[in-house]
Amino acid sequence: MPPSSHHGENTPLEDEEELLTFSDDIAPAAASTGVWNVLVVDDDEEVHQTTDLALRGVELLGRRIVLMHARNVGQSLDLLAGTDKIAVALIDVVMEEKDSGLQLVAKIRDAGRSDIRLVLRTGQPGSAPEFSVISRYDINDYRTKSELTRGKLLSVLTAALRSYSQITQIEESKAGLEMVVSATSDLFNRRNLALFSRGVLTQLAALIGVSPNGLVSVAVGSSSPDPHFPEMMVVSDAGDFSGSIGKRLEEISNHPLQVAFEAAASSNEPAVIDGHIAMYFRCPQGRKLFVYLDSGPSAGELDLSLLKIFATNIAITFENVDLVEKLDRLAFTDQTLGVPNINAFRAALDNLLVRKTPGLCVLKVFLNDVRLVSASFGAQFTDQALKAFYELLQRLLPEARMIARTSFSAFMVIADIGAISFGVLEEALARPISVGGVSVLMPSTLALVEVSVEMKNAEQIRQHAMATVLAARQEQRSTGVYSPAASEAMAERARLQAALHQALENGQGLYAALQPKIDLIRGEIIGTEALVRWQLGDRNIPPSVFIPIAEVSGLASAITRLMIRKVGEWASARRIRGLAVLPTAVNLSMFELQEEGFAASLMQIAAGAGLGPDSLEFEVTESGVMRYPARTIPGLKSLRDAGFRIAIDDFGAGYSSLGHLDRLPAQILKIDRSLIDRLRPETATTSVAALAVTLGGTLEMDVVAEGIETPAQHAALLRLQCRYGQGYLYGKPVAAQDFDGLYAGWTLDRALERAQAG
Ligand code: C2E
Ligand code: CA
Ligand code: CA
Repeated sequence: MPPSSHHGENTPLEDEEELLTFSDDIAPAAASTGVWNVLVVDDDEEVHQTTDLALRGVELLGRRIVLMHARNVGQSLDLLAGTDKIAVALIDVVMEEKDSGLQLVAKIRDAGRSDIRLVLRTGQPGSAPEFSVISRYDINDYRTKSELTRGKLLSVLTAALRSYSQITQIEESKAGLEMVVSATSDLFNRRNLALFSRGVLTQLAALIGVSPNGLVSVAVGSSSPDPHFPEMMVVSDAGDFSGSIGKRLEEISNHPLQVAFEAAASSNEPAVIDGHIAMYFRCPQGRKLFVYLDSGPSAGELDLSLLKIFATNIAITFENVDLVEKLDRLAFTDQTLGVPNINAFRAALDNLLVRKTPGLCVLKVFLNDVRLVSASFGAQFTDQALKAFYELLQRLLPEARMIARTSFSAFMVIADIGAISFGVLEEALARPISVGGVSVLMPSTLALVEVSVEMKNAEQIRQHAMATVLAARQEQRSTGVYSPAASEAMAERARLQAALHQALENGQGLYAALQPKIDLIRGEIIGTEALVRWQLGDRNIPPSVFIPIAEVSGLASAITRLMIRKVGEWASARRIRGLAVLPTAVNLSMFELQEEGFAASLMQIAAGAGLGPDSLEFEVTESGVMRYPARTIPGLKSLRDAGFRIAIDDFGAGYSSLGHLDRLPAQILKIDRSLIDRLRPETATTSVAALAVTLGGTLEMDVVAEGIETPAQHAALLRLQCRYGQGYLYGKPVAAQDFDGLYAGWTLDRALERAQAG
């Protein structure tokens, strides 16, 4: 989610949803009458109807929603010109043009309409505007349509309306409002009632420029016969009222206080009576709060609208204090390890950020294989190992401000810059952790984010750390340092990850391309390899970009499932047209090979797609298998025993080691393109490729050379008696539904002729 621009704070959605329930009680100042005009801009009629349906009769922050509808930029501008009272515009990004929505946004802001809150909606998850656009045009929120369920729409709208109503009031007194905001944000950090109520007195006094002289009381029990005037107990006191903590309100013999209490308790607004401010809050959970403060000599000049905003915020904060007190322990502690959790991390970091603490950094320690440890050794062992790892971190980072467990596989550390040294950490964390006599390696990836002034909140920093871990893992590094320059690339990766999730969910944009495998001697197509393709809007994202993203996001097996399904569809279309079975190889990622029961699940998916061992093969890489051979090899064996053929892919690239080859239950050896690249007929027999072909022969494997592009390479492979080949020379990968048409009349001679000619 892009950062919301409102006062630099970014309230998590869940909180917004909670706040919804306050709408009746804490309507902002000017909200007791009138309506909210909300402009819906979309070229899709259905969106107008569903928005209408979702918001019909809805009251938010005390006012009814009135919708205005526009179908394009022109109509929107006409409607905008007709009224200056539009609170929120929900704008579709893609209309007549790809960026119509953004053009409209620019026009609105350029025309000086800075009060209108803007929420962008889009059908395509991939088309998020740049972050710079979001902040330049003060866009409140950006959502995909599918994500905007009614509940979310209401919460997004509530947040935008609250922001609008504050902004319209700011105009009257900008400076005053800044004080309110900083006063209440300070209150937010006071997480127990005594501190909070003390803070209310101090902040309110500071706000109106007097020294604190008053009290705060809360309702206790339900013994009072009159629900309007419950029994109130003083929880904070100042000035003349010192010494009244713990007393009941009626025990304090102060006539103006009693009058003010009755006045405030019968109204929803702050009252100024006899030189005192009296505010009474009823929270939905049943808590009640009464604030009474000497307003000093300038009571008559008090800016009541500011006071109301402050009151609104106190009510929200008060409710939080109430909840927080109850939930603190649960909410801020990881239940399995008994250490601080993500909420504790966020609260602590946000707190430091609010106080503009200099020189902070955040370290994320991502444990690469916890899920694997958990699958191998069980949950209890894993918890103990994690606890031991946490304690190790504590010993290594004695000066850390907080070490929290922020997800199943990650710890995050808040520390001062300089307290963290990768060298020391890396070495210490690379040693095995031992638990009850069992030692286990917990390899980790470290990401460091130095907190800078543009970083607004913990969530943003957490995302930077997440992206840095992701980037490091993709590049097979064990450490990474966040840099703003790399942040756009990281944001892009995060967007792709979200879009990929969605594409896999709705099955849109992902398809299979097939590339023929050739028998070089007989000149026939003997099979195909299925390669995934992703069309995202008008972009073609290459597998080299999104497969690593899929792997680290646990989506690898979902891609395989999809590919097997697509291959199944293609195979059954061939069957219907009476074409022969052409075996197709699907690539397996090393991450899915580590999943428990992967072989059984593959066989089940294959069966569901109507594919048997005659029509489906699997390609795995040697390094992928050898990473955790004990888990992987038995699965591959059971696939082989069921008759499926398995190919070792990319042989000769990087990590291959000849020694492992005979342990692998594979029947096919694919020689990597890098070995074919350098191949010439003259030097063929002394090449590494020659060695690979011989080795394959010795192990009785079928050898397939990959990435053959030139007739010279073809000739060299024939000389080496390499039987099978694949490459652009013979044919490029094409979309599965085009394959049969394009390769119907294929012959090797014609392919070679075409290459000779071109
Ligand atoms: P790979 O399995 O080695 O696939 C062969 C790659 O080489 C494909 O790239 C193919 O388009 C390309 N290629 C084929 N012939 C030639 C040639 O003559 N010259 C050149 N320069 N390239 C050739 P692609 O489709 O971009 O895929 C890249 C890699 O992404 C694949 O390498 C594979 O590791 C991964 N991948 C692709 N599809 C899938 C999939 O469905 N699942 C998984 N897990 N990985 C996939
Ligand atoms: Ca492959
Ligand atoms: Ca390959």
